[in-house]
Amino acid sequence: MKSVGARCLPTIAPMRILIANDDGYLAPGLAALVEAVRGLGEIDVIAPERNASGTSNALTLDRPLQAFEAREGQQTGYRFVNGTPSDCVHVALTGLMAHRPDLVLSGINQGANMGDDTLYSGTVAAAMEGHLFGMPAIAFSQTTKGWAHLDAAARTARAIVEHVIGGGLGGAPWLLNVNIPNRADADRLPWQVTRLGRRHASEPVVKQTSPRGEAIYWIGPAGDARDAGQGTDFHATAGGHVSITPLQVDLTDHARLGDWQQRLGNRAPR
Ligand code: MN
Repeated sequence: MKSVGARCLPTIAPMRILIANDDGYLAPGLAALVEAVRGLGEIDVIAPERNASGTSNALTLDRPLQAFEAREGQQTGYRFVNGTPSDCVHVALTGLMAHRPDLVLSGINQGANMGDDTLYSGTVAAAMEGHLFGMPAIAFSQTTKGWAHLDAAARTARAIVEHVIGGGLGGAPWLLNVNIPNRADADRLPWQVTRLGRRHASEPVVKQTSPRGEAIYWIGPAGDARDAGQGTDFHATAGGHVSITPLQVDLTDHARLGDWQQRLGNRAPR
């Protein structure tokens, strides 16, 4: 029997990974994530030109978008788009990238994206855009602002990515929301699969007077956790775990469908 030469072996295409964020292409968390997953596949970085935190799933429809290639420093080779996180992934998947990625990553965000945060988060939205296009996607955040122990968070992210790739990325599309405590030992903390908690309503707006005498308003900080019970992302991270919440996009209130059917279904205006 003839020996099987290298030419006859099936070629395994390299894993392709798209990475975005919402803190902007210059954010340390993005560079940390990119460096963390180096070697796991071919990496494309396409991120917002500016900090676009809190922009949720917004797409820019009132002007054209442009993509630029960064040519200096740690970001050399990154592309940045003058738009939102969702714009970046949308444009990447529908025109910029030559090939469809196997995995979409977002982050590492500066600050928690737990509970209701996920509705406002550009970090989650960037991953969700990949998910909506049928890909497995993971959003990573550190629970506290300031980038403390970002290196440990990046090692955690790598371990999770290695784990899902090792599992063959099965069951896709799926969407994971990961929150990592800012601790030097973050990469040794146990992982806990969680559900989203809930926050109290946001703090009131901060009202000020502009130099021109006009009333101006700053959106207040997010509320504290209201549902931080066992099994939630808040509970897990407070207890020294890395929280991993599988998310879905369907906002339907399935539990109340029957109730609303009784109250409003099959009725017509009189
Ligand atoms: Mn952010």
